[in-house]
Amino acid sequence: MRDVMIGAFEVTALNDGVVFYETSRVLPTATSDQIRHGLHESGLSDPFPMCYNAFLIDTGEMLVLIDTGSGGKLDDQPEYHGAGHLMANLRAAGYEPEQVDEVYITHRGPDHIGGLTIGHERAFPNAIVCAPKSEFDPFLDPGKAAELLAEVHHDEEYRAWIQFIVDLFEPYIRAGNFRSIDSDVRLAPGIRALATHGHTPGHTSYVVQSQGQTLIIMGDLVLMSALQFANPSLGSSFDVDAEAAAEQRLRVFRMAAENDYWVAGSHLPFPAIGHIRAERDRFFWVPAD
Ligand SMILES: [Zn+2]
Repeated sequence: MRDVMIGAFEVTALNDGVVFYETSRVLPTATSDQIRHGLHESGLSDPFPMCYNAFLIDTGEMLVLIDTGSGGKLDDQPEYHGAGHLMANLRAAGYEPEQVDEVYITHRGPDHIGGLTIGHERAFPNAIVCAPKSEFDPFLDPGKAAELLAEVHHDEEYRAWIQFIVDLFEPYIRAGNFRSIDSDVRLAPGIRALATHGHTPGHTSYVVQSQGQTLIIMGDLVLMSALQFANPSLGSSFDVDAEAAAEQRLRVFRMAAENDYWVAGSHLPFPAIGHIRAERDRFFWVPAD
């Protein structure tokens, strides 16, 4: 874990795991020149290590967790194998899951929501879970979910995926601890949602502000920092709408660089908190310390 003060708020990066990826699998439109240059500049080789991170905000009044890691689920799949360390790292940072007051979800990636439950129980038994409406409502409204499941009855993989999502949120909904949130809504004193749709239909970032300092937790706007700061238009194979995702990436990069905001990202190299600098015609990632 690693923490940074944003005004009076303490923000702790919690690593959930590291998974190795071929660059061309993550950024299929990157040229071999871009890949060679990006890896060289960052001292990486292919396949490169992608960190999976979540962030804990201690406002002094409440504890807010942004995303939950994979929970060790889907460990038989290469994308999630070896993840699931968030809970251990939360405890190592001196917190218990019972202390978490609110959980805000950036999007539907299993490495972001898998940690919501342990078995069929809530992993954060006292927390209210907030998730973007446009991302989850089609799955979490029982009527709509049934309709969707019937529509894709022939596609077992897709059905399993819908069921995976439903099972993660169901214990919170049953307990009355789930809120579906609108875009750009204020959630807690000093924390608001910022719609950055594209990577997924309802992908949402969170803006944290205290005593004149600002942090944007930008979720999956960057999958590979070694190439996407220099080339923000490079889309990822994991983007649902790569063009919209690229627009949001550029928007947040500019916002952060112009205003000297802190930035955190789910897949930036741990501790995944730092600043974005704009120089000449490109951006640079400047990690904290
Ligand atoms: Zn992700």
